[in-house]
Amino acid sequence: MMLKTKHLKIKGFETVIVGKDPSTHFHGIIAVHSTQLGPALGGIRMWPYRNEKEALHDVLRLAEAMSKKAAISGLASGGGKAVIIGNPATDKTRPLLRSMGRLIETLKGKYLAAKDSGILPEDLDVVAEQTRHVTGTTGKQGGSGDPSLSTAKGVLAGMQAACQLVHKTQDLHGRVVAIQGVGQVGWNLGHLLFKRGAKLVVADLRPERATRAQQTWKASVVPLSTIHRIPADIFAPCALGGVLNSKTIPQLRAGIVAGGANNQFLDEARDPYRVMKRDIVHVPDYVLNAGGLIQLVVREMLHQRRVVPWIKKIQPTVHEVLTTALREHLPPLIVANRMALERMRA
Ligand code: NAD
Repeated sequence: MMLKTKHLKIKGFETVIVGKDPSTHFHGIIAVHSTQLGPALGGIRMWPYRNEKEALHDVLRLAEAMSKKAAISGLASGGGKAVIIGNPATDKTRPLLRSMGRLIETLKGKYLAAKDSGILPEDLDVVAEQTRHVTGTTGKQGGSGDPSLSTAKGVLAGMQAACQLVHKTQDLHGRVVAIQGVGQVGWNLGHLLFKRGAKLVVADLRPERATRAQQTWKASVVPLSTIHRIPADIFAPCALGGVLNSKTIPQLRAGIVAGGANNQFLDEARDPYRVMKRDIVHVPDYVLNAGGLIQLVVREMLHQRRVVPWIKKIQPTVHEVLTTALREHLPPLIVANRMALERMRA
């Protein structure tokens, strides 16, 4: 097994490293955006990117969002992320995951891995055979396991803050929520919403997941191309990024957009203004989906048991971001970015 590495110099990032091992078909990238507040903690995403350029674009955006997420959540961790180029359903092998572990080990703890889309806690156990710089492994490896339920609890708390502002009540009973992607976050979120009496509409690339939602929650299933334009109270993107763009924003029919997916805007300079002009309240993803990161930091770095009191802090943060945005006639993302930057500087 032969891991070859290449460092890239990218403005604004502390370290970006590309790793390849032809013997295990591994091709991955780690981006460390900032270690100013602590080690750069962030998940590993496995996705069939078309090429390295596309993977690099994704990992850079995701790593920067992790820095902002930690800062706005008051956590002592920095921002980083990793990607593996490949299809998690067909290309994920133990040797490939071990190569990822060796690439992480080269950074000597500057980057702390976790799970993201396409990676499970069991996969992290394999990664951890090559490096101890991994969080969110299973209990067998001493980790705190899948953080997706914590992420979903945070998304729910943020949704309630948005409902309080828009509808003057946090009650989600009878509200129609359209969930795009019922994977780990979307599924846990759907369950929390179902228990609170929300009416669910779902779409997922994997039809069996949508069917499971239909059978479990009596959810309506709609085609992938229409989920964002369902007349709903809340549209919850819980799949991948870029879903809010110049084509989809004019079609939105929900008053609130609040979901767990990272980097929901395709064009962060223009799209947040497009949503604001339509009088739609968008809750910035990295404020809302910090629950998973909170679990990893609280359990595995601070060695505390109780995570929920920390997750509940997402609610006042969302409230502060949304009310400031309304007062200053700015998109919530712009306000959140400013708050995160101020906290990083402080
Ligand atoms: P996942 O892979 O378990 O779930 C994603 C789901 O979306 C899958 O079921 C997939 O089939 C579906 N999907 C993909 N493209 C789709 C499309 N175009 N339309 C509809 N469905 C589609 O991943 P996850 O862990 O649930 O993460 C989901 C999102 O939340 C990602 O953006 C991730 O970065 C973000 N996030 C996850 C966590 C966490 O704790 N897992 C924490 C913070 C942010």
